[in-house]
Amino acid sequence: MKSTMMSVPLSLNTLFERSGKLFPQSEIVSRLPDKSLRRHTYGQYYQRTRALAATLKKLGLRKGDRVATLCWNHHAHLECYFGIPAAGGVMHTLNLRLSPDEIGWIAHHAQDRFLIVDDILLPLYQQFAKHHAFERVIVFPFSGAPVATRDGDPHAGEPAVDDYEQLLADAPDHFEYVEHDENDPVAMCYTSGTTGRPKGVAYSHRSTVIHSLVQSMPDCMALAGRDVVLPVTPMFHANSWGVPYSAVMVGAKFVFPGPHLHPEDLLDLMQLEPPTLSLGVPTIWLALIQLYEANPGKWTLPAGMRSLVGGAAVPEALIRQFAKHGMSIAQGWGMTETSPLASLFYEKPSLIGKISEDEWFARRATGGVIVPLVQLRIIGEDGKACDWNGKDVGELQARGPYITGAYHEVEQDPDKFTDDGWLRTGDVAAIDSEGFVRIADRTKDLIKSGGEWISSVDLENAIMAHPAVAEAAVIAVAHPKWTERPLACVVLKPGARVDAQTLREFIAPKFARWQLPDVIEFIDAIPRTSTGKFWKLKLRERYVDWSWPTQSGA
Ligand code: ADP
Repeated sequence: MKSTMMSVPLSLNTLFERSGKLFPQSEIVSRLPDKSLRRHTYGQYYQRTRALAATLKKLGLRKGDRVATLCWNHHAHLECYFGIPAAGGVMHTLNLRLSPDEIGWIAHHAQDRFLIVDDILLPLYQQFAKHHAFERVIVFPFSGAPVATRDGDPHAGEPAVDDYEQLLADAPDHFEYVEHDENDPVAMCYTSGTTGRPKGVAYSHRSTVIHSLVQSMPDCMALAGRDVVLPVTPMFHANSWGVPYSAVMVGAKFVFPGPHLHPEDLLDLMQLEPPTLSLGVPTIWLALIQLYEANPGKWTLPAGMRSLVGGAAVPEALIRQFAKHGMSIAQGWGMTETSPLASLFYEKPSLIGKISEDEWFARRATGGVIVPLVQLRIIGEDGKACDWNGKDVGELQARGPYITGAYHEVEQDPDKFTDDGWLRTGDVAAIDSEGFVRIADRTKDLIKSGGEWISSVDLENAIMAHPAVAEAAVIAVAHPKWTERPLACVVLKPGARVDAQTLREFIAPKFARWQLPDVIEFIDAIPRTSTGKFWKLKLRERYVDWSWPTQSGA
């Protein structure tokens, strides 16, 4: 017997069409470089996005061609999210925080044909232009200044330069979506490449639609049309965790911060346009809440705002601090390779009324519950799958309809994918019987001491619970006797004081003696990666020649 259902391809275009028609009054607010706010309705967004798609077709974009974006978070970037695939193209978000050489290498590897760039980022483009010849550079006049357009010279490898707004104004009236299969690509992102060269992941209509549906479910992000979404996560970081797609799908209001991501700017923006849902990596919220508490009465936090925080371990202390101010943090785990949401905290009914408040906070400090359609497994050192008992740790592997099965133009590598088709995440984790995923570490960040593993995440969490501590990162440092020992780098809050011995005593009850860091270094700042996470690689480099006092190591 056959199913009687229609075989209609899943399509971003269908989501977009419905939103444009059903939610024309929904708003998109963008903060401009001069900090003023620009407002669009979904009605305008719909027209502009279709105009972008029609223009790209007119300019000769072919199916599957890559269109790179080098943009902050704003309405025109959102237009690219739907407009480029509508024209049959593949949006490739370039990470503007990488070095110019890296950006150029990535654009070249992806064979990007066109570039859409914020005018204020043109100086950055100039620095990597030598690595890759785009055919067209479309400049978005984000600052409001006029764009100097130019006809290109293909013989001299000089791209044509267009004004984004002018192109939209001159767009053909008639537009038809490019036919596609649901497995055709719509967007691509490169991993940050902390180990080896960055690698490209290409998302399809199908994977993006399924991810959007799963993400917005009530027991997931509970994303709804009445939400006001503040995506602090850059739109080049795993597509701002896929939220631009799902928020358009439900017709939610957007508040885009533009280039203004400092805590004081975010707090100011929250006064003007209070969000109900915000997303960002933990370092953003650590800095924001500390600034907020240091300036009583200056700002009001949006009552009841929920924050989706992930990309790195979220300290329990931060979750408690937010709760004190009436805001909830839901931690999620994912990777560029997993679209990215693979697990997310929610208040699981099976635990309601059964566990204490402290236990809830401990659950919130995990990577959350595996979301529908994602399969996760933990493979122990013996190569066998571990039980879901919350204790047995091993390599976290993933499989599912929105998890990448390969990297763009890279030979299949057994270090990245198993023979039976699972993604090897490079994370070490345990899963408990309720499906909560506890990330112990990235494989490369685990500390191997005397044959036993120590989780740097657990140590960081404990240290960051001390009221004098602003930030902490724990790294493995080579040790002649124990292979490696933990070294903690701690940044204190302004004006706060605590010594290493007091900190060690503060965390001691939570750990075996041999797990405690032998050395606590007080430093000015923890280096950040291009996506704003603690950059432990840089710290390891700093301490590579460290010589331990002879009695160190428990
Ligand atoms: P990058 O390598 O630039 O950080 P991704 O953003 O794709 O690229 O990062 C994915 C990685 O981030 C995961 O493999 C994991 O190590 C880490 N990560 C993501 N979410 C969490 C979390 N909730 N807790 C701990 N680590 C996390």
